[in-house]
Amino acid sequence: MLTPLDLTALRSALGETGGGPLEPLDLAALITGPGALDRLGDVLADLAGAPGEVVVLAAATPMTVRGSALAEAVGQRVADRFTLKWVVLGPASGSVHADEQTVAAATRAAAGARCVITVGSGTITDIGKAAAGAGTPLLAVQTATSVNGYADPFSVLLRAGVKRTTPTRWPDALIADTDVLLDAPARLNLAGLGDMAAMFTATADWYLAALLGADGPPYRGDVAGLVRPHGERMLSLGGGLACDGGQLADLAGLLTLSGIGMGVTGSTAPASGMEHAVSHLLEMAATAAGGTPNGANLHGEQVGVASITAAATWAHVRERIAAGGLDQAARLPDPDAVSARIGAAFARLDPSGAMAAECLADYAVKIRLLSSGADPLVTLRATWADCDATIGRLLTDPGKLAAGLHSAGLPVRFDDLPVPVDDDEARWAVASCALQRRRFGVADLAMLIGAWEADDVDAVLAAARAAAAAGGAS
Ligand SMILES: [Zn+2]
Repeated sequence: MLTPLDLTALRSALGETGGGPLEPLDLAALITGPGALDRLGDVLADLAGAPGEVVVLAAATPMTVRGSALAEAVGQRVADRFTLKWVVLGPASGSVHADEQTVAAATRAAAGARCVITVGSGTITDIGKAAAGAGTPLLAVQTATSVNGYADPFSVLLRAGVKRTTPTRWPDALIADTDVLLDAPARLNLAGLGDMAAMFTATADWYLAALLGADGPPYRGDVAGLVRPHGERMLSLGGGLACDGGQLADLAGLLTLSGIGMGVTGSTAPASGMEHAVSHLLEMAATAAGGTPNGANLHGEQVGVASITAAATWAHVRERIAAGGLDQAARLPDPDAVSARIGAAFARLDPSGAMAAECLADYAVKIRLLSSGADPLVTLRATWADCDATIGRLLTDPGKLAAGLHSAGLPVRFDDLPVPVDDDEARWAVASCALQRRRFGVADLAMLIGAWEADDVDAVLAAARAAAAAGGAS
């Protein structure tokens, strides 16, 4: 059982283990479990200090707690001490985006407030973290277990149509009431499980990146250990997550721990590896195509599917290394060839070339770092047996991963996503994922050992498909 999470114990556990400085965990209160919302008035009074106007930021989406309107429930719990101004962000459909316009509207609404409360899922929480100034207390009421981005100091914001993780601020308090989570759409709650599947692949990517001295924070086993020991149990949940309060509370706790892991390392590296890079590319492609009438895939749904591919990529790379893949000199990409490759990869999304230029700038940082010293594979060559053992403990078998996600009710193949991604698009996203960011991951290692040619990508996609079939997807 994960809940309740004790912030004091977490702080001292992370503080005692050493291994490089961590960022402060600037979350003052974490209230979880059934009836957590009843504490709202007291938490607010603690944060706000004195009475005044409290601005609530929410989407138009109808939200309930035990079947009654959540807006009323929030109002009742604070009305005796505060004046509440409920601000609806985004369109009447409720599909709010964290774009420049919406963040500006939220910032205007929050200006001068005694305290800001966000009531919503990931996007609303992200907007609140961007809109509430540093001196304004911020309280987040989490309404679904959709992503791991509640308890951290980052916001995923849209800049010129491209999603970027942006440093913002921690919420001062997070309230995750099981009764509120139980009323969220099942698909939204399940998506958080897909987002957490990244723990099996992103942590291995993080370990690898830190070992090679690539861009990013030093690897911390204690931070990875906040969530990874719970992975196997998470995969054995099976169906019914959305209507089981205990399981939802546990998932909410894991998402919180994952957010804290990112917050204290000052980076999304502990929870965002190759699987997220693939998902980001799919999102960029969907945005460039102008969306579909069937809506969009949820972040966690895509991450879950992509994590199976990332696990298959790790299996492919470890196999190639076992067969002597580290014996040759690293194949550092030729800058001209890379430029052409990135141009080709992104031309169909954005003919102006702006997207390719942005990706190339990020990728160039990664390549410069790798080529600045000796052969970047030297460390791996010297220590591979130990590295492989550590990486093996972080990873899981792609078939087991697919079986766990499938039994919970999540899609496990790109073409099973609510908005299906066809083979060509999936191949493009998987082949190009390393070109999109400066963070080093398993696909970069595959390139360095010459194991990321078209045939390799096809083999990985076939292995992921086989894993999905072995996991029960028909
Ligand atoms: Zn994520």
